Amino acid sequence: MNATFLQTPIDYLKGVGPNRADLLRKEIGIHTYQDLLHFFPNRYIDKTRYYKINELQQSNAEVQIIGKIIHIKTVEQKKGKRLVASFTDGTGTMELVWFRGHKWIKENLKINEPYVIFGKINWYNGTFSLPHPEMELLSEHENGLRSAMQPVYPSTEKLTNSGISNRTINKLMQQLFLESKNKFSETLSKNIIEELKLLPKNEALFNIHFPKSQELLVKAQYRLKFEEFFYIQLQLIRKNLIHKYKIKGYPFEKVGPLFNDFYKSHLPFELTDAQKRVIKEIRNDLGSNAQMNRLLQGDVGSGKTIVALMSMLIALDNGFQACLMAPTEILSVQHYNSLFELCKNLNISILLLTGSTKTSERKEIHEKLENGNLNILIGTHALIEDKVKFKNLGLAIIDEQHRFGVEQRAKMWKKNELPPHILVMTATPIPRTLAMSVYGDLDISVIDELPPGRKEVKTVHRYDSNRLKVFKFIRDEIAKGRQIYIVYPLIQESEKMDYKDLMDGYESIVREFPLPNYQISIVHGQMKAADKEYEMQRFVKGETQIMVATTVIEVGVNIPNASVMIIESAERFGLSQLHQLRGRVGRGAEQSYCILMTSFKLSKEAKTRLETMVRTNDGFEIAEVDLKLRGPGDIMGTQQSGVLQLKIADIVKDGDVLKIARSYAWQVLKSDPSLQLPQHAPIKNTYTQLTRYKNIWNYIS
Ligand code: ADP
Ligand code: MG
Repeated sequence: MNATFLQTPIDYLKGVGPNRADLLRKEIGIHTYQDLLHFFPNRYIDKTRYYKINELQQSNAEVQIIGKIIHIKTVEQKKGKRLVASFTDGTGTMELVWFRGHKWIKENLKINEPYVIFGKINWYNGTFSLPHPEMELLSEHENGLRSAMQPVYPSTEKLTNSGISNRTINKLMQQLFLESKNKFSETLSKNIIEELKLLPKNEALFNIHFPKSQELLVKAQYRLKFEEFFYIQLQLIRKNLIHKYKIKGYPFEKVGPLFNDFYKSHLPFELTDAQKRVIKEIRNDLGSNAQMNRLLQGDVGSGKTIVALMSMLIALDNGFQACLMAPTEILSVQHYNSLFELCKNLNISILLLTGSTKTSERKEIHEKLENGNLNILIGTHALIEDKVKFKNLGLAIIDEQHRFGVEQRAKMWKKNELPPHILVMTATPIPRTLAMSVYGDLDISVIDELPPGRKEVKTVHRYDSNRLKVFKFIRDEIAKGRQIYIVYPLIQESEKMDYKDLMDGYESIVREFPLPNYQISIVHGQMKAADKEYEMQRFVKGETQIMVATTVIEVGVNIPNASVMIIESAERFGLSQLHQLRGRVGRGAEQSYCILMTSFKLSKEAKTRLETMVRTNDGFEIAEVDLKLRGPGDIMGTQQSGVLQLKIADIVKDGDVLKIARSYAWQVLKSDPSLQLPQHAPIKNTYTQLTRYKNIWNYIS
């Protein structure tokens, strides 16, 4: 069936008047035949299964039973009459109930004849009852031609109230298939269909709406899920390839003296294999003619900083400047300090620019940036202000991507004639399936290995009532020379209350750990940057033993001697945040601990989060659980979740299909980048249509 047919406005379908068309458009976004065709059921009622009355459970919502009516009576009630039939199948008895249409039912129902009944059961007063069952004589049922699996389409209250029931949609669908004569063009190439033993498009569409059997339904679902992922991946990968082809970058051809000198003489430790591999990937990108757009994923503590530095050295070796942007002041300062330390034997200039940089310093930075005397600039989003002009920015590194929007990434691009190479670093492990879908247009490097000798952080869950034991533990650890974090939640909506909790907590800690034996730092969002920095520094230098803080310390802070992380009201934190916080400890040689403090009242989800934290230190495993708990939209934020509005596939459950679809999309584009080969004609056609009719499958913004 050609594309024009599918683009027919829904008003033209027999059975859809102007009113219905309006409702279909407004309520469920069905504008065209195509939209209707791709309006997929969200579940099926299994009519292949027959229940016995004695195996009914209160949780069986819809059941199908074979049995006989033994007698019928009318029951008078204040609210009105109802008709009640006793129904038995030999294993037990239940009631069929009608509140309307008594006369007709009484006259037509046959006593003692086998019926097939279907409906939603109720459990009341020790018996099951079924109000207004669908009924059919067994003899007729056996002769009937029907789909064993009955589709149930998504609906809205307004639709139901306006008489557009599931049955209506079903009928419209039948009409659509009738008018199209079930001839829909194939959208995948023959070899893919054969290799994966997929159902042809026609059969898949037919069986998704009118499944002939459970088996065909599963095949139809698989085929359509595959197709959905395949075309998303095709678009993402194509975007990436076109980008590489079109967006020229500065080719950093040489790996020069700075990189080599650092690598040979100043590397503070042996790189892990994962770090080496990732640096190689970055070097390859930088050496090509295309602009790099790479995401570097690595769990907290996996050693991203050194990778960032070595990438910047390549830029410097080729006569360019580099910058590194971090989401908070504290982090920028920390990056500045560690990079400064790492580079102290190299002859390069590094400066820091944040919101609290003094005007005079700022002026100096601006000058040196523009005349090229500054090699590396580190800072907060102050870096992307228009006033900040580089002589020749070659590489921009953005740490902790989830804090910045895509716009910030885009702003970096405009700092030069040619866009600088971009490396985005994130410590939030993103499940692979999600990364494939959301960052499919970026290249991804993963550091999947921690530096040697790292001990797992021992994690426990304790109730508030155990606080005294926890205090004793803290005292013992401090006696061994360790430092302790105590973190309180800070959530925007209840900022005042959180602030009070923090202050109350702080006071009780001060009481428990008094001067002069104990020194305590406090850092929170309402403090001035300078005060924060002062308190932070006291802790860094070991002058204070306890750091009481809100989540401002969440990302990146690196203090190896801090070995205990106590998280207050841990039930209020999300999994990735808990994992981030725990990552602040376990950075030194000593055994580290994370104690999750909660009240007794815990939701089921909170329990899962805590159990997951206690069970594993693996960021990717945690990310998978998080994805299952929260769904992709919440994890990535709304701006990126557009790509994830899938019609039939489920990014959490269908990860395997996604992987296969992605590899096929790669294969196709690798062998035939512009889809010219005759065997790819169906793919080319579909792809063209997808891009032409953006509203069809609104995959990519
Ligand atoms: P993150 O990926 O969280 O930014 P960092 O770069 O801050 O991690 O590294 C965490 C700690 O591990 C730092 O103290 C760093 O010096 C150390 N480190 C990094 N790579 C290695 C390595 N290959 N061997 C030993 N220690 C390393
Ligand atoms: Mg870091």
